[in-house]
Amino acid sequence: MRPGARHLNPLLDWVQRDDLPRGEVVRRLRMFIAAFQRRGARPRVSSYSTALARRLTSKELAITHAKLGKLVLLAESFQGERHPTKADITPEDVWFPLRAASLRFLVAPERGDWTPWVEAGRLSDLVPFLAYSLLVGPVRLARCPAPARGNWKKTCDRLFAQSGRGRPRRHCSDECTERRADMVKHQRRMEDV
Ligand SMILES: [Zn+2]
Repeated sequence: MRPGARHLNPLLDWVQRDDLPRGEVVRRLRMFIAAFQRRGARPRVSSYSTALARRLTSKELAITHAKLGKLVLLAESFQGERHPTKADITPEDVWFPLRAASLRFLVAPERGDWTPWVEAGRLSDLVPFLAYSLLVGPVRLARCPAPARGNWKKTCDRLFAQSGRGRPRRHCSDECTERRADMVKHQRRMEDV
């Protein structure tokens, strides 16, 4: 399966919270990178880059978190009416928030097709770049319209990725899909009374 919304969503979840244990964050980052190491992925990531998630410092993790957050919130602000109030965005970030000095690129044939390859010296360069490649490709961003946990008058409002192909995912999580179904059921019951 090619990299897509289902690979990006665990990282979008991470970007919107700060209570994930480090081990879980590293696991998600490795899964994300691994999706780009399979045949057919564009760009493809060299196996050398796998080691980046293993020797990860807290600082590198924080930079990755911040860059990814800026990228998606800024992308979302251009996609709709919403302004990126949650990101710490300075004027010089507004047009081109990402710099990635450690990325190296190569084009090589694979089964008759040219494949773009990328290799990185830093995870904080690689992960935002791969997210960028999804946003300019098959993925769209959306806000979860399900009722919020514990308060059905509000909406969940979490940012998540939708696949461009097939029926797009409607909520940020299965939990939200269930909560929305519960609310609809409840409303019908109230109408019947
Ligand atoms: Zn939700």
